[in-house]
Amino acid sequence: MSQLQRITIAPSQLQQTQIFLTPQQQHYLKRVLRLREGDRFMAMDGLGKWWLASLSGEQAQVLEPLLVETELPVVITLIIALPKGSGFDDIVRSCTELGVACIAPVLSDRTLLNPSPQKLERWQRIAAEAAEQSERAIVPTILEPVSFTTAIKTTTSTHRYICEARGEYSHLQNAITQISGEVVIATGPEGGWTDRELTEAIATGFQPVSLGRRILRAVTAPIVALSLIAAACEV
Ligand code: SAM
Repeated sequence: MSQLQRITIAPSQLQQTQIFLTPQQQHYLKRVLRLREGDRFMAMDGLGKWWLASLSGEQAQVLEPLLVETELPVVITLIIALPKGSGFDDIVRSCTELGVACIAPVLSDRTLLNPSPQKLERWQRIAAEAAEQSERAIVPTILEPVSFTTAIKTTTSTHRYICEARGEYSHLQNAITQISGEVVIATGPEGGWTDRELTEAIATGFQPVSLGRRILRAVTAPIVALSLIAAACEV
């Protein structure tokens, strides 16, 4: 795709060939990016569609639809125990770049931190920015944090893995040689999963897997897991 600036719009902003820009988008395009009347940029709806558009007053004129084929052939959901501090911002950004479709933050036995509703908005904004930057066709969904038990019981994919730092488990790379469709991968908090959580996940159908012999930080493990899945299914 070209080097033009990109923005995410809500699907409702597009009416026929006009994009009705919000005041924030007008400010961003005109004041921050310094685009002038008639200048071109790209707009995405976060649901798979991109358009080439040109600035026209408080609106934008759609010039043509764009074909964007940057999505992975599998749909990855990352279940992740919320790490401490602002580590989750980095996880959302990196995992969006790597192709995740859905991020499901969970409150685990060892992370009892309950984030504010503003945090969810912030993560959704970070995901949209990272999707624009990495030329994704979709913006990943960030779900509201739920308990670990709720999260694992609501998944149905046949390919479900829980990353465990200790124990003699198959390496994720060997476990995902024949994946297709939806893949669910879970990574734990700084203190690791408790035995109870691991047992519960296995009983629900998750396969415990290793990411190698070194103990990765809670913010590194999802990046490694997603990179391995992307490498296994993308040619
Ligand atoms: N404190 C835990 C311990 O000493 O066993 C380590 C937790 S690790 C910092 C955080 C999470 O990253 C783990 O719960 C696991 O999901 C994932 N992780 C880190 N290294 C891993 C590895 N080598 N294999 C599989 N998962 C790993």
